Amino acid sequence: MAATTVEATKDNANNLGAGLGELSRRFIEEADHFGAHNYHPLDVVVSRAQGAWVWDVEGKKFLDMLSAYSAVNQGHCHPRMLETLQRQASRVTLTSRAFHNDQMGPWLRELTTLSGMQRALPMNTGAEAVETAIKAARKWGYVVKKVPEGQAEILVCSDNFHGRTTTVVGFSTEEKYKKNFGPFTPGFKVVPYGDANALAKAVTPNTVGFLFEPIQGEAGVIVPPAGWLSEVQEICRKNRVLMIDDEIQTGLGRTGKLFAYQYEDVKPDLLILGKALGGGFYPISAVVGSNEVLGLFEPGDHGSTFGGNPLGCALSRTAMDILVDEKLPERAFRLGEKFRAGLALLPKSVVTEVRGKGLLNAVEISKQARSARSYCVELQRRGILAKETRSTTIRFAPPLVIEEEALDWALAQIQDVIRD
Ligand SMILES: *Cc1c(COP(=O)(O)O)cnc(C)c1O
Repeated sequence: MAATTVEATKDNANNLGAGLGELSRRFIEEADHFGAHNYHPLDVVVSRAQGAWVWDVEGKKFLDMLSAYSAVNQGHCHPRMLETLQRQASRVTLTSRAFHNDQMGPWLRELTTLSGMQRALPMNTGAEAVETAIKAARKWGYVVKKVPEGQAEILVCSDNFHGRTTTVVGFSTEEKYKKNFGPFTPGFKVVPYGDANALAKAVTPNTVGFLFEPIQGEAGVIVPPAGWLSEVQEICRKNRVLMIDDEIQTGLGRTGKLFAYQYEDVKPDLLILGKALGGGFYPISAVVGSNEVLGLFEPGDHGSTFGGNPLGCALSRTAMDILVDEKLPERAFRLGEKFRAGLALLPKSVVTEVRGKGLLNAVEISKQARSARSYCVELQRRGILAKETRSTTIRFAPPLVIEEEALDWALAQIQDVIRD
């Protein structure tokens, strides 16, 4: 890991040399100097954005093919979001849950209606919603399933990504996420992703939940075998294990359905949402689920000062309206099919695999070829912002509002950059 960090720093220094505007250089040096180095961003300093496009401080225009890790499915600075922000910000922004507000009730009703669930619990970031789902599953395990106190187990997947809190990184299988951050929370067991037999074998009488991503975004857009989710549901139902579906990245239209689990005939017990739930304007996350599980929370059990605040709820209501009104899941499905058909034409000597659903896609770069990052740097020169995940994968996940011609143009650029 140390070698990677040295590489990364060198890479950064090299890029800072060539073709970088004076203004951009100043902002990047400032962030480097005063910030903790917990990210390795591309050398682009964004100062304005609209729809699928962003502009840097020098006025250069780029197509955003990352969408803030799927937090801007609705597109940057959507006019309806902006209108809601201005309207709600001038009325009331924060009440805390000590009082009711006139946005949270409607938001809860609209979110549970949209997702076909009974109750929801609002938080702010994705990781907090994951923590909330873990607490909900454990409480259900003790109160309803009658697991002996302190014995509840939650099964998770290899190569999972569920956020960065100490509990959550504790059950990661990525060394870099956890090194030097222990000791970790007990009560989690890892099973191989996409392997129903392994899951069935790992379940014990104390298992209260199975936490999974329907497609693993951060692991490099890993799509499990078809039928896996149905088998997961069967195993969970048979053993009274909660099916906990983290759709923070895959949800809200990204994969060509409103939720990625809808590709199979299943219904999770708990659904975790975040990212695009705030339409790129505001961090808002939620656990949505059944009365049997979420009905167990009592006053004092759990909370969040900003969770359920009227500004976030108002923005999230508009974010959901946009998905429905602009038929963004359907759009993602149609454009995704076309995009992957184009990616499939890339030379096999460089691109060994194309993966994805809807507008959550990735190409796997051959270990014999250049680094995924170097292709990202070349794409940036041509006006496309894409980011590598791990070292051999490039993810392509534009805002779902991307114009069809923009996607065609992006494909042509990608085909030009990724040659034999
Ligand atoms: C981004 C993400 C999270 C964490 O969300 P934060 O808002 O960054 O805390 C959790 N799970 C998945 C699948 C994600 O993609």
